[in-house]
Amino acid sequence: MEVKPSRIEGQGLFTKIPLRARQKIGEFTGERITQREGRKRAKLQKCIAIVEINHKLAIDATNETSGFRFINHSCSPNTFIRIIRERAEFYALHSINAGTELTVDCCPSHHNGTLPCTCQSLHCRRFI
Ligand SMILES: [Zn+2]
Repeated sequence: MEVKPSRIEGQGLFTKIPLRARQKIGEFTGERITQREGRKRAKLQKCIAIVEINHKLAIDATNETSGFRFINHSCSPNTFIRIIRERAEFYALHSINAGTELTVDCCPSHHNGTLPCTCQSLHCRRFI
């Protein structure tokens, strides 16, 4: 995977290799914090830097310099997150060509539909 400028927003995460449908892509890494702290921090930023694992635990990747920290939200994503044993793993929703930007439909709760969406998808909900 590589991080480079995205047409959606800022930097994006791109796959260098083709991915098969439902293939595991990798794991969301970062600081492990409480869910309560995660929600407090998430109010201040784009949602995908923080992933909630369960009612107690969240992962904050704000200070990560690579990886899923850079994945952008899309209303028509090509990946999804599965929470397995307190880890957040990313999987391909369908087959993805090499060079494609990876996207995920992230946590609607954090912004309650108040953040304008820039995903440019045909099915964009306009707000996250
Ligand atoms: Zn959108």
